[in-house]
Amino acid sequence: MRNAERTLPALLALALACLACDATETDDARHGTPAGGDAPKEGHATRDLVGYGEELGGAVEIHPGIWQARGTANAQMVVTGEGNVVFDTGLLNQPRVQDELLAVDDGPVTHLVLSHAHADHYSAAGDFIQDGTEVIAHPEFLHNQRYLKELAPTLMARNAIFFPEDTPAIPGVLMGAMKLVYPTVEPTRLVVDRHEFSVGGRRFEVIALPGAEGSDGLVLWMPEERILFTGDFFGHIFPMWPNLVTIRGERPRFPKPYVDSLDLVLELDPEILVPSHFEPIVGKDRIREGVTRTRDAVAWVEQAVIDGINDGKDVHALMREIRLPDRLAIPEVHGKVSWGVRSIYEAYLGWFRLRSSAELYGVAPWAVHAEVVEMAGGPDAVAERAARHLEQGRPVEALHLVDMALEASPRTRSALEVRLGALDRLLEAGDEVNHYETMWLKHRIRETRKALGTASG
Ligand SMILES: [Zn+2]
Repeated sequence: MRNAERTLPALLALALACLACDATETDDARHGTPAGGDAPKEGHATRDLVGYGEELGGAVEIHPGIWQARGTANAQMVVTGEGNVVFDTGLLNQPRVQDELLAVDDGPVTHLVLSHAHADHYSAAGDFIQDGTEVIAHPEFLHNQRYLKELAPTLMARNAIFFPEDTPAIPGVLMGAMKLVYPTVEPTRLVVDRHEFSVGGRRFEVIALPGAEGSDGLVLWMPEERILFTGDFFGHIFPMWPNLVTIRGERPRFPKPYVDSLDLVLELDPEILVPSHFEPIVGKDRIREGVTRTRDAVAWVEQAVIDGINDGKDVHALMREIRLPDRLAIPEVHGKVSWGVRSIYEAYLGWFRLRSSAELYGVAPWAVHAEVVEMAGGPDAVAERAARHLEQGRPVEALHLVDMALEASPRTRSALEVRLGALDRLLEAGDEVNHYETMWLKHRIRETRKALGTASG
């Protein structure tokens, strides 16, 4: 059974794959983590998600009657003899995953539970929805699905920076069409708190669990088996610092609902977590330790930001100063603590810093940078000062100055050279731990090298 969306031009469908997936081709967890964090030793490189599960040749029975088809994003099915319950669908453009799951059992799908409104978790819903299938999502799913669809042309272009190998080069003229082909699903039941049901003698509980992948998080709990299907609630590496803000662009996520949700997971006390990326995490103690550390790290950082704000510190100082204590260190392969700090600050206080009245109006600071550069003796003179910062180990200060110089004169060789040096330094310092930081810096390095090819001076 294939829905009409399967006939989408392959290019656009492939593009969808990357549009909302937080976890495609992200950085290698084995690179370790700063400040003494413990990246999973035998864990996956997140880039392993591409092509993941192909060699298995079919869905895996992870527990009696519970099947997982593995791909870039997984799909799960509980077979009961009186109907099947499906949790997450995998990607629309990865039909192998849906085929493998449907090959397990051809009974009716009584319930389809969607963990959240990212395309890698719901875009193949049409393959599982039959007459009478209850399609369950969180009320916020509708909101998230709508704005992600509305912004699809822009998010697609941004994603091309962070996931270049997975994102086909779509001509600008076709970008607008992303909105038209974006898959949507209409849930038949919205769960704002909890919803219990039984199928074939097996008990299920859908629980609203807003978290690090958004306000629309749902998980599926099987109380007798003590199995929790988590979607992206923990992301693709367990445990990891959550993506409280996505650099690729999405609305921010508040820390407190995530902390409350993590407390709820501790109350459930699961023995097996079944995330929709990579394989299950087994073991009560391991799960409890990882959940507790994630919860404590997020709560600690939130409190540090609040205290810092009340101490009158600015957001950049807090980004520099707030560091997790060693006991709470957690891999920063996806989100970064410093970005979380900024996200929390702005989520609570908004963008107005009460610093410059000009912030309130539609004229950017860089609108006058060319004038400042001219007064300072021109772009070469500014680049020379920037080079001093770089030599003295201050690449970000160097970037601020060369950005001004390049605003005045985009092809100034001396400024481009300093920019390249600063970007190289930052890339080296980051040690390619965080995927988004790494990909952004590499993108800018490529752009800068290209500009140097046509530079003047
Ligand atoms: Zn995902």
